[in-house]
Amino acid sequence: MRNQIAAANWKMNLTYQQGEALLDEILKAKVELADHQHAVFAVPFPYLIMAQTKLSARKNYAAAAQNCSDQPAGAYTGEVSAEMLKSINIGYCVLGHSERREYFSEHNQSLAVKTQRCLELGITPIFCCGEPLSIREVDAQESYVEAQLKESLFHFSAEDISKIVIAYEPIWAIGTGKTATSAQAQEMHACIRRQLKEKYGQQVADAIPILYGGSVKAGNAKELFSSPDVDGGLVGGASLVAADFIKIIQALK
Ligand code: PEP
Repeated sequence: MRNQIAAANWKMNLTYQQGEALLDEILKAKVELADHQHAVFAVPFPYLIMAQTKLSARKNYAAAAQNCSDQPAGAYTGEVSAEMLKSINIGYCVLGHSERREYFSEHNQSLAVKTQRCLELGITPIFCCGEPLSIREVDAQESYVEAQLKESLFHFSAEDISKIVIAYEPIWAIGTGKTATSAQAQEMHACIRRQLKEKYGQQVADAIPILYGGSVKAGNAKELFSSPDVDGGLVGGASLVAADFIKIIQALK
């Protein structure tokens, strides 16, 4: 079975002490993961070493960065490079979250470079894509997401693309409480997998985890994750509550 991932996205929430307490509570639940199951926590940069130290003691638990620079090093005040992440053993990096696209002008081309930097260093990119409400309203979500994938990812080799995790996050469902139905999520995930298959073939398409993001909760995770092409979730709000995120990890296939 391909990898199944419950990924927490803390965004710019929690103090260091609150973050530590949240991880301690989640780890205390001792949810054991099978070889193909992973729990990943995208925490703010200053918490990465603390989170990685706590999580790496547990099988298939890991910390992730929420972003990295498209530059390797140099005079870029306030930026954090993929090399810096690698130097503290961070294995995952979320890229292209819709909030970064909207508030920090990230675009498909710079995300292609960020993805390349992560791949070169053996950091798994969790590449976010997804359409805004205006696109969903005119039923153009498939071509919109296809353009995001083509412009950021589809120049990579089959070997490189196989190392990427994709997160489909319809923007109208992020932080709104308005979850896509499991049928809507499955439809888009199948469409993304079809696009991967057309470009890279069945074997590669079948191996790439595609996470769903957008108001995943303790109460809907099991149903969402049960769809054949939904391989877990990228979770914002519900990842800040230990009991809820524990249930979301337990909902993995
Ligand atoms: C997210 O942060 O990627 C997200 C999907 O947020 P939420 O779960 O709060 O909708």
